[in-house]
Amino acid sequence: MTTLQDCRALDAQDPLRTLRDHFTLPDGVIYLDGNSLGVAPMAAATRVAEVVKHEWSQGLIRSWNDAGWVDLPQRLGNQLAPWIGAGADEVVCTDTTSINLYKVLSAALNIARQDGPARTKVLSERSNFPTDLYIAQSVCRERGLELVLLEPEEISAALQDDVAVLMLTHVNYRTGAMHDMAAMTAAAHARGILTIWDLCHSAGAVPVTLKAADADFSIGCGYKYLNGGPGAPAFVWVHPRHTDRFWQPLTGWFGHAAPFAFTPDYQPASGIRRYLCGTQPIISLSALACGLDAFDATAALGGMGALRAKSLALTDLFIALVQERCAGHGLGLATPLEHAQRGSQVCLTRDEGQGVNGQGSGAYAIVQALIARGVIGDFRKGDGGTGRHKDILRFGFTPLYVGFEDVWNAVEHLRQVLESGEWQRAEFNQQNAVT
Ligand SMILES: *Cc1c(COP(=O)(O)O)cnc(C)c1O
Repeated sequence: MTTLQDCRALDAQDPLRTLRDHFTLPDGVIYLDGNSLGVAPMAAATRVAEVVKHEWSQGLIRSWNDAGWVDLPQRLGNQLAPWIGAGADEVVCTDTTSINLYKVLSAALNIARQDGPARTKVLSERSNFPTDLYIAQSVCRERGLELVLLEPEEISAALQDDVAVLMLTHVNYRTGAMHDMAAMTAAAHARGILTIWDLCHSAGAVPVTLKAADADFSIGCGYKYLNGGPGAPAFVWVHPRHTDRFWQPLTGWFGHAAPFAFTPDYQPASGIRRYLCGTQPIISLSALACGLDAFDATAALGGMGALRAKSLALTDLFIALVQERCAGHGLGLATPLEHAQRGSQVCLTRDEGQGVNGQGSGAYAIVQALIARGVIGDFRKGDGGTGRHKDILRFGFTPLYVGFEDVWNAVEHLRQVLESGEWQRAEFNQQNAVT
């Protein structure tokens, strides 16, 4: 049995324990939702104030040159690149994940069309994050293609010659299950299929090797594990073998070869800059820069290897403590036990019929009761017992600022919430707009 003392000892030995000082964490909160919205880097408030007070208020339009605003998306892309296994000048931080997916999926489909026989399908996972599926639906509708949604175990057999693009999220938002990017990409390439990898739940959380895995396109979020702030600019990476082959469809002036030539005809910039569209949100990019700077501080302490080791230790501990201390309350585990298949989150399930008066699963109410105690995770709705997806209590473990004692305390609160039945109170059973 693991004890609170054991957890404190793990914190004392943790080589990354000082990284927490780079972040602002509210008192009395155990934050297990960094996979949804990362915490504020300590430097962000000052940096954003500086941008507003000096660069904007005083520098005004001159700051596009003087403060280096004009190439901020590329500079931040270069800062991020090593954390996702990309090279220099291959990444830009811009727009949202949804918008960037529209760009890369369109580009991939045009390349597929130029390169070979008619390929009429885009493959993805049924439990992919909905915005990815919504964007893919509209791209497929525009082009008369078919979006095929599969369960993970069905993907390999579906990689056939009529498929243009395999579009996957590396770490599943519902289960925390992680794909083998290199193996899946190789299997797709063997059939002439291009790959798009969504790194929303991977970037800054798990080792990612886009180039080494020979991926084709990638997108991901700035506001989750990268701690870039609510609605932070996302990122886009394109393998250099594809970058200059096609114009992405959102041909705004910031992706033009010479934006300030003001010519009437579009000429794409060479390289990844053509994946920019319009004028970039400088204040938001400045906050994202603070999130990325915190990763630079990590580099001296062992970098992604150390982050990954701690992340796995945290999720292992959480799983073990829930099993030891919360047994008998109908909790299941949706996250793989196998390390190679696990992201940086743990998802617990509850069956339908376990809620108040047998209504629903009670998962939402348990999460609300935990939040009221300062343990912030989140709830993701299942399919209501119609298929294979149960309601989920989701807990993200960001190794930058979550410690082992936090894990102990979170499980202790969960145990108390379940044993006291406090989650059954009416106030925890009313659904908010954002879950
Ligand atoms: C969080 C997330 C998104 C979010 O997309 P936005 O355009 O930033 O709203 C997209 N895809 C996945 C897989 C995500 O986890």
